[in-house]
This record gives sequence, structure tokens and C-alpha cells, in this order.
Amino acid sequence: MATRNAHKVDEVARILTEAGADIELVPLPADAPDVAETGATFAANAMLKARSAAEFTGLPAIADDSGLCVDALNGMPGIHSARWCGYHGDDAANLALLLGQLAETPALRRGAQFVCAAVVVDPAQGIEHIVEGVLEGQLTDAPRGEGGFGYDPIFIPHGEQRTTAQMSAAGKDAISHRGQAFRGLAPLL
Ligand code: IMP
Repeated sequence: MATRNAHKVDEVARILTEAGADIELVPLPADAPDVAETGATFAANAMLKARSAAEFTGLPAIADDSGLCVDALNGMPGIHSARWCGYHGDDAANLALLLGQLAETPALRRGAQFVCAAVVVDPAQGIEHIVEGVLEGQLTDAPRGEGGFGYDPIFIPHGEQRTTAQMSAAGKDAISHRGQAFRGLAPLL
């Protein structure tokens, strides 16, 4: 899997195993090149990561790219979700900035989607395949819950009362954008 994030490998391995894909998932080696995420879409960025990993390792590779698309911000942060505050890797700063930007947006216009593009690339077989998952929901005006990561504390899926930070990992997997996307890839894997 084209990530060095062990947490992400565990999450995706859990989703794939539950979906019946009998594969051994290993993270990207430490000496693999960094990939600039220059694509304009989640799918393009996931594809860049997977192609690079497959080329470096000589193995079939999977990758994902995901983010939060906010209706009132014309779909932003979108592919910029991980570095919305201006730099990479500060979930709290990203979330605080987004809440500030939406401070005057009423509940009726706080719709948002978590989106994930999952891809598999196998150069030996000429395979490049993309599956996208979308979780529709609504943003709160203050964080709630200790679970998850990123924007989970302010995202309530449609039909739920809790934020995704208040759900169990398995409960979130069952409906999440990432769960949908990788369950879609599982038969091919
Ligand atoms: P990447 O797909 O690892 O590049 O990161 C996407 C970014 O989108 C993360 O850093 C989070 O800010 C956000 N994001 C993606 N999926 C989720 C999720 O399931 N919960 C909360 N935030 C998410």
C-alpha cells in the first residue's frame, strides 16, 4: 500500500479482510521516493501514489486519496484537506480554520461529503482500477468525540446523531468513504 502510515495500512487491511480479499498488505518501504500530489482530483492523486509504489517495488500497489468536500466552500478543502491550514499534518489547525470559515453558515447550509478514491495498479497485468466512495453528512459548529482523526469531530453522517469521532472504528468502516471504496476494490484484489 502506497503509504508509510501504519495506521492507514491497518485500517485498510481490516476493511479488505472483512470484504474477503485474501492479500498481505505491506507499507511503502522507507527508501521509496516521495510523490508530489500534483493531481487535480482524488483519483489522480491516488493513481500517482500507486503507480510510483508499483514501479519502485515491482509489486501490485494500492493507494487512496481522500478528503472533506464542503458545500458552502464549493467543495473545498477537497484534495487540500490534509494541509488546509497551510502546512501538512496538523489536524487541529485544519479543523479550527474550517470551523472559523463556517462560523456564519447556518445549519441548513452545512452539508459536506467525505470522499475517497481507492486505486489498484498492477503493471505486470496492465491493471489500473479506481473506485470512489462518498459519505454524505452535515458539519457541526463545535467538535464532538475523541475517536477518528482529521475532520471526524465535526462530521455527522446522514441518518446519524453522532459525529464519526463518536463512532467505533468498525461502525465508521461500515459506512465510510474509505470503507466503500476499498470494499469496491476487494473483488478485483
Ligand atoms: P490523505 O488521503 O491521507 O492524503 O489525507 C486526507 C485528509 O483528509 C486527512 O488528513 C484528513 O484531514 C481528511 N480526511 C480524510 N478521510 C477522513 C476521515 O475519515 N475522517 C476525518 N478526516 C478525513
